[in-house]
Amino acid sequence: MAEKNTSPAIGIDLGTTYSCVGVWQNNRVEIIPNDQGNRTTPSYVAFKETERLIGDAAKNEATRNPTNTVFAIKRLIGRSYSNECVQSDKKHWPFKVIKGNGDRPNIIVDYQGKEKQFAAEEISAMILTKMKEVAEEFLGCTVKDAVVTVPAYFNDAQRQATKDAGLIAGLNVMRIMDESTAAAVAYGFDTNDVNSPVKKNVLIFDLGGGTFDVSLLSISNSVIEVKATAGDTHLGGEDFDNRMVNHLVEEFTRKQRKDINNNPRALRRLKTACEQAKRILSTTTQTAVSLDCLYEGTDFYSTITRARFEELNMDLFNKSIEIVARCHEDAGIDKDNIDVVVLVGGSTRIPIVQQLLKNYFCGKKLCKSIHPDEAVAYGAAVHAANLSGQGTEEIKSLVLIDVAPLSLGINLKGDITLVIIPRNTPVPTHKSVEVITSSDFQYEVPIAIYEGERVRSKDNNLLGWFSLSGIHPAPRGETKMNVTFKIDSDGILHVSAEEPVSGTKKQITLINRKGKLSKMEIDRMVKEAAKYRLEDEQFKKKVLAKNSLEIYAYSLRKLVKDDKVVSKASGGYAKYLAEAVDKMIEWLKHDVPKDASEYDTKKKDLQEMCSTLSKLSQSDPIFGENDCGSNLLEAVYRNSSPGH
Ligand code: ADP
Ligand code: MG
Repeated sequence: MAEKNTSPAIGIDLGTTYSCVGVWQNNRVEIIPNDQGNRTTPSYVAFKETERLIGDAAKNEATRNPTNTVFAIKRLIGRSYSNECVQSDKKHWPFKVIKGNGDRPNIIVDYQGKEKQFAAEEISAMILTKMKEVAEEFLGCTVKDAVVTVPAYFNDAQRQATKDAGLIAGLNVMRIMDESTAAAVAYGFDTNDVNSPVKKNVLIFDLGGGTFDVSLLSISNSVIEVKATAGDTHLGGEDFDNRMVNHLVEEFTRKQRKDINNNPRALRRLKTACEQAKRILSTTTQTAVSLDCLYEGTDFYSTITRARFEELNMDLFNKSIEIVARCHEDAGIDKDNIDVVVLVGGSTRIPIVQQLLKNYFCGKKLCKSIHPDEAVAYGAAVHAANLSGQGTEEIKSLVLIDVAPLSLGINLKGDITLVIIPRNTPVPTHKSVEVITSSDFQYEVPIAIYEGERVRSKDNNLLGWFSLSGIHPAPRGETKMNVTFKIDSDGILHVSAEEPVSGTKKQITLINRKGKLSKMEIDRMVKEAAKYRLEDEQFKKKVLAKNSLEIYAYSLRKLVKDDKVVSKASGGYAKYLAEAVDKMIEWLKHDVPKDASEYDTKKKDLQEMCSTLSKLSQSDPIFGENDCGSNLLEAVYRNSSPGH
């Protein structure tokens, strides 16, 4: 191969089932065909006695040599072995996955007559190498720089691991780009909407082989801005295939009274046939699955209708629509205000998926003009040109704005997370809140930083913590501090806290902000948040009611100890009230009531007592009416006290 000096940057869509590579050349994106002439390459690696196969040849090996043919590696990358998702996937794979160093999942294969272990990054690197070679063959020069795409919902660990795979493949990964953003870029350039001054809201619906991603973006004046993202790591073509496999295994068992579940080769053959049947059902209403000598010399023949296939997967299809709803609701954009719905990913060819989506958007036409298998690589190629300063003026002026995938905040007294940066906030960003002390003469305040969507901090993910010490000592609630969260353009979080009276300041940087959570855990958190929302709300109400009563009681105690106020109240009423307040504070310290109403009742009692005493002492309404509790409650919302 001839070496040239100029080596253009390429865009790689590293998919769960298929990968695709593109390059900006001659003022347009070229999607590069592989050595078989195919524009997408299976993300498969097969290990044999003498050789290693990648792509189409590897996929062809899958039925012959199932235990040494590795696929769906994207489901392992950046995850720990003990991850729930890895454990459940492992059961369905014919190749072996074991626990490696640092709880990493390692793949075991027989290669060149020996047992070999590979990390997920290494297998991904093999696929990236293949895509790099496909590009090099086409361009006639070595390729160094690349933009590699990942699902928008990928966490920092998964992104970092993908970057490492690029490094292993000898690539300089210029940027890890979200697949949905890449698809939006492809749409924007294809329609020329990217240059229009009229803002368009575009929903990217990407249903691939392993994952489902939805993003809502706005496009205008060369700016593509992500408004919200949502998704599911376990929703895609593979799941639809598995449903059909299970259905046919049952049929085989029923008819032949033989269990093929312990035969990886038979299962693999059935799976390949099911994927084929599924594709055919996208254009016809009925097809046959025919496999000679499937198990112990027994042939298998069956037919499947489109209606049956739809029924087997309806819950999964409906789930995708629920996720679409969550995404645009999160962005605060009504479905009527979505201008275009763009279909991306091989599984969007399934007619019922298109139908459900069309129904949801009340008959709106779906955009199918961009190629569902190539859009992501197209956008990645545009971004690669943009980052390396190649391409036309319109490519050079392209600006992409991303969002924070999870809410970020600090722990408050009562184990509540005060959200400082809500999920889907555009990054880079910075936000500050004022917090107050929660104890008298506190000289140190712990700041614990959490990520997640739950109300209670213990249900969220602790990212780190620090202590602000040497602050101005004063009665509780009087010392104020500013806590600032800043996310820079690389997605790294910096947290600082400052107490102005003493001038104390502290800052920490969380490099692995997203790395500590898997996508699965994020999905679970969002799902659990909906499920437990009611419970969470009740808990929040209880904490707020308790805080309200506590603040009211302490403010009254301050008043009844004030000589000026006491002298105004006649007949020893101040002393009477002081006793009641002391008793209440004592009760607050020890009692654990069941719900918010008990605190509310106690507070009302105290308010009534204040009001009566004010009347009896015929003084100004010093203790009553003013409802300083609720006024202070507002202050609590504004000046929340950090927890212990
Ligand atoms: P990924 O990006 O996750 O690798 P792709 O977007 O390449 O996935 O989509 C691959 C999936 O699309 C596979 O599960 C494949 O079976 C499915 N697919 C491709 N063509 C069709 C079709 N005509 N009908 C139904 N599913 C299809
Ligand atoms: Mg894809």
